[in-house]
Amino acid sequence: MTAPQEQATLAAAGAKTAARTLQNFIGGRWVDSAATEFGEVRNPVNDQLLARVPYGGRHDVDAAVAAATKAFPAWRATPPVNRVRPLFVLRELFEKYFEDIARITTLEHGKTLDESRSSVRRAIDNIEVACAIPTTMQGRSLEDIATGIDCYTYRQPLGVFAAITPFNFPAMVPMWFLPHAIACGNTFIVKPSERVPLSQVRIFELLQEAGFPEGVVNMVNGAKDAVNAILDHPGIAGVSFVGSSPVAHHVYKRSAESGKRVQALGGAKNFVLVMPDADMARAAQVSTESCFGCAGERCLANSVVLGVGAAYDDISKRLVDEAKKIKVGDGLEPGVTMGPVISKAHREKILAYIEKGIAEGATLALDGRAYRDPKHPDGYFLGPTVFTNVKPDMVIAREEIFGPVLCVMKAGTFDEAVEIVKRHDLGNASSIFTSSGKAAREYRWQVEPSMLGVNIGVAAPMAFFPFGGAKGSFYGDIKAHGTDAVDFYTDKKVTIARWF
Ligand code: NAD
Repeated sequence: MTAPQEQATLAAAGAKTAARTLQNFIGGRWVDSAATEFGEVRNPVNDQLLARVPYGGRHDVDAAVAAATKAFPAWRATPPVNRVRPLFVLRELFEKYFEDIARITTLEHGKTLDESRSSVRRAIDNIEVACAIPTTMQGRSLEDIATGIDCYTYRQPLGVFAAITPFNFPAMVPMWFLPHAIACGNTFIVKPSERVPLSQVRIFELLQEAGFPEGVVNMVNGAKDAVNAILDHPGIAGVSFVGSSPVAHHVYKRSAESGKRVQALGGAKNFVLVMPDADMARAAQVSTESCFGCAGERCLANSVVLGVGAAYDDISKRLVDEAKKIKVGDGLEPGVTMGPVISKAHREKILAYIEKGIAEGATLALDGRAYRDPKHPDGYFLGPTVFTNVKPDMVIAREEIFGPVLCVMKAGTFDEAVEIVKRHDLGNASSIFTSSGKAAREYRWQVEPSMLGVNIGVAAPMAFFPFGGAKGSFYGDIKAHGTDAVDFYTDKKVTIARWF
């Protein structure tokens, strides 16, 4: 696609990017940032400039917090049944502009249109769950905790919350948080990833159209400075973060220092165990989709396959065969099953990991380094890459690569495989492929990752189940989504009452 064609696509999708420099959404209005530094949003397929994004800081965050703080008392006093009405409208607007949001996601991120569509669907799921707040926000009560004394719990909103989100699911991840938080009566600020802010721009246009009162929802563009201004701001009650583990840890510590609630979802290195009694064809196909979907830029990607005992040779060969079937290209083109990675710099980082794997002695069974798309010579493409004979202590097995690189490892026994998973610092998700209910149960009992698949490649909890990992993949106590979101975004006020 040429640059004018891209702008036309964005314009057709309703995105106001003609001026090319994005604005913030504060207090119900689109406003210029006070930023003096700007970043670029580029289409990973062809390196074309899509927009300029301001790197806002304290000034922009102060303005957003002021607007959200001003809006809070009236929004809190709005009955829950009325608070969810604009969310029902938002849901319909998401349906109406479903394809537009998906196309913008593909343009700015590079994933295939089907992958973008799935992510928009999951955003809608979260809005739907938040619409149930008049039920899910109910407290509990007990009459006569002592003679004539009743006790009841009400859930109350806390004020202004913020979400800081990553590049890999631009439309979806902010919607893991915003609908739940505002349905609970809080007001909200989104700081989208500076690499992919365009789908949030479009979504905030829809939020504006949905009729939320001014200041209930706000968006500030920026990078590190905007994040730190949010973490330090005394007017913000809590922060929801999704991103890499080092930044998640930083967000957790710094938010807690200023007395905030915080949930920080971090990085991942997800293992899949393939037992000798597994359906090998299915395990290979599903694991390949899991690892290479979204070009491996997915926190639920199973990026390490552990072949247990006799399963190793069979699954290694099948995985390479499956990976060869992947069609790399422009995610907007039909038939393409894997798009480019997010940036030139990220491509270089992944290439360095591949070099490292070779130097460490792993076998490069499928080499995607040389892949070039003849139609898009400037795109940030990589072909699917598979390493076999990977050992647990190699860098490619320990660190999150976040690209289309699959590591295949051998474990002599089930217990050995479990030990490898338990020894890893991260614990977001994991899967087991087996026909033994006992093995599956034992696996679930023993390992820490909190999102587990049994004969499932991407163990993605629906919007009404908790979402979040363990160990270095999650800092905090209360997870995202569903009733956990209600716990995170409300305080439980217990009242003990006696009337004379
Ligand atoms: P990232 O950590 O680089 O950025 C995430 C957010 O933090 C962005 O909004 C960015 O502006 C901000 N940020 C980046 N560096 C910062 C710094 N030094 N100080 C303050 N703020 C900073 O993550 P990313 O590359 O955008 O996203 C990929 C990562 O997100 C992967 O590690 C992936 O596993 C993780 N992720 C996790 C989940 C989950 O559910 N656990 C979901 C999606 C993505």
